[in-house]
Amino acid sequence: MDNRSMYQPRQNPTRLDAKAILSDPLRNKGTAFTDEERDRLGLHGLLPSHVSTMDGQIERRIAVLRAFSTPFEKYAFLRDLQDTNETLFYALLARHRSELLPLVYTPTVGEACVRFSEIYRRARGLFLSYPLKGRLKQILADLPFDEVQVICATDGERILGLGDQGAGGMGIPIGKLSLYTDCAGIDPARTMPILLDTGTDNEALLGNPLYVGWRHRRVRGSEYDDFIEEFVEAVRERWPHAMLQWEDFAGPNAVSLLDRYRHRLPSFNDDIQGTAATALAAILAAERLAGIDLAERNILLFGAGAAGCGIAGLILGELERRGLSREGALDRLYAVDRDGLLIENVNVTTLNQALFARPQSEADDWLASGQAPSLIEAIQRAQPAVLIGTSGQFAAFDRPVVEAMAKHNDRPIILPLSNPAIRAEASAADVQAWSDGRAIIGTGSPSQGRDGTVTQVNNVYIFPGIGLGALVSGAQTITDAMFAEAAECLASLSLHDDGGALFPPTDRLAEVADTIALAVCHVAERDLGALAPLDGWEKAIARHRWAPAYRDLLPG
Ligand code: NAD
Repeated sequence: MDNRSMYQPRQNPTRLDAKAILSDPLRNKGTAFTDEERDRLGLHGLLPSHVSTMDGQIERRIAVLRAFSTPFEKYAFLRDLQDTNETLFYALLARHRSELLPLVYTPTVGEACVRFSEIYRRARGLFLSYPLKGRLKQILADLPFDEVQVICATDGERILGLGDQGAGGMGIPIGKLSLYTDCAGIDPARTMPILLDTGTDNEALLGNPLYVGWRHRRVRGSEYDDFIEEFVEAVRERWPHAMLQWEDFAGPNAVSLLDRYRHRLPSFNDDIQGTAATALAAILAAERLAGIDLAERNILLFGAGAAGCGIAGLILGELERRGLSREGALDRLYAVDRDGLLIENVNVTTLNQALFARPQSEADDWLASGQAPSLIEAIQRAQPAVLIGTSGQFAAFDRPVVEAMAKHNDRPIILPLSNPAIRAEASAADVQAWSDGRAIIGTGSPSQGRDGTVTQVNNVYIFPGIGLGALVSGAQTITDAMFAEAAECLASLSLHDDGGALFPPTDRLAEVADTIALAVCHVAERDLGALAPLDGWEKAIARHRWAPAYRDLLPG
């Protein structure tokens, strides 16, 4: 009898469990499994001998991360950690948030979407592709995800300012939901990133053998609409209480999907409403810093797409709240798009733009030249106190533009919000230099001005709190009033900061999310009849928080 035939596999009922535990990112603890856990879960031999603490693991991981030379490599490392040990991923993020946020989110997530197929390794979230049409309800019903409460869905057509990234757009819902967990404490098991793969018109992707998405041109029109309708119905059936964030859809779809579905399930479009609240908060904080009254000054938007029109809409509401008539409020707003200043019946291309177009009579002298006014001409005429960029046009705020803003304002408010940095209308350093350091600046991606006081005006300050508030209050609709309150809340938090920054630093994002969530709960109670818990909304919010700490996995 040779040795091999003497070998008897030990009947170990936990053997399968051991492998399953190690490959489940929500249960895996890596080297932090204790000896007792290793004994009782059958983990001995599957792990190296050393038993770490979570602090030890954080130290090791941050050291490894820092040794990578490019942000993209660091991103890939973090995604790998998220897919293998999610608790440690969030503990690391919480401990080093200001360093890691630009990697997990903008700007690095942009490159991650472009190179998504290159680093695709493990399943995360759902890829619902058009060929699955007619089967979505069954597919969702069969999946083992019973606890989903927050969904972030994209079709990948307008990823940041990087255009159509097809299935690579999945990087965005993954990133956004990571921030729901990191900032708002939503249990990662309750989040679900979804890529609605309706094809891509990106030639490079279609021709790339590595591309992991559905290799087909985008479906459009009623085929697209029917697919989205089927998806929404499937979500409503499978997760009737879930909230859905629409993310990075191309302009016309972004607007129409929001209109169609905002009253059918609790949902919002972050590019339109989240951006609007973030920008309004920045403007309110900047207004106080500059010592001006917004109601008496003009505001110019450059790039009147989904984000620009969303911002304009929320500003309109704010001006009306301050007592301006609708006409008076509209008169304060100027919008410039690719064909110059928007003028009614001349260069308006969407319904949303029509609201913010200037009357033709006002522009007669300009139009005599046959062209709508350019950005700089519009600035010279309107003398706005605030200039907001959501055009995705790199360097569109050049020196003459910034100088024109600085000419008629002591403290011009300049917000080049387009992402990522290669799409930004200006860099903070240039705006500072060209305005002799007088500009109050907010940028879409993290950036550094020479005196260090540049604020990142990014939706991450708003959407985690909106989502948390909607969940805790059980709101069936996410209303514009919630975004207006969120903006006011964020602006007031900013006043507690020294040094002229518009928003609190990112290490206070959890506190920001809680404060906004509370405001959302109050709006839900006031406007939608949500019932406050007996011990109050604050306690309910605290109860909802998931913390990145290892759970006890031992049976009994
Ligand atoms: P969109 O495609 O709906 O809108 C872009 C608009 O810019 C369109 O109306 C387009 O016609 C216009 N445009 C294009 N070329 C132009 C030019 N040369 N001059 C003037 N206008 C021009 O996209 P969106 O969702 O509104 O996003 C636009 C940008 O805003 C993106 O770069 C995005 O990353 C950024 N954004 C930033 C934040 C943030 O939190 N900072 C949030 C949302 C969007």
